[in-house]
Amino acid sequence: MSEIDRMLAANAEWAERFPGSRDVRPARRVAVVACMDSRMPLFPMLGLEVGDAHVIRNAGGVITEDVIRSLTVSQHVLGTREILLVHHTQCGLQATDDNSFADLVEQATGRRPPWAVRAFRDADEDVRESMRLIHESPYLLSHEVRGSVYDVATGLLSEVVVEG
Ligand SMILES: [Zn+2]
Repeated sequence: MSEIDRMLAANAEWAERFPGSRDVRPARRVAVVACMDSRMPLFPMLGLEVGDAHVIRNAGGVITEDVIRSLTVSQHVLGTREILLVHHTQCGLQATDDNSFADLVEQATGRRPPWAVRAFRDADEDVRESMRLIHESPYLLSHEVRGSVYDVATGLLSEVVVEG
């Protein structure tokens, strides 16, 4: 059985205990921007239920133009007002840098990506950078943002303190 077959079978079981339809607007008016890492089950680890929050994920949980696009929809159309950023320990983006990654892709495919992978060394520092990018965005209604780093070894989330 392929992994996708297993997921489709799991979904049939999920539908049996489906909690029912929810409003399209997140009940807790929050959006979470997080890394795609497989070790972060965002809903249970943040005490969220179906219908509570938007979750926007990408490699690293970095703020890209597309994350701003999603946050803008989230706030203007769907009523969210707070943003939580979640980076984590042992992130794949800490294991490379923008040039090495572009080299790797170019060697394998013959094409060098025109976008930067947005690698970082220090997760806390990148969370601060992400908060700065959200504060600077002219498109958001609310710039209420807090950042955190999740420890994949303990399950504990640490809030990133903003200096100054
Ligand atoms: Zn990661």
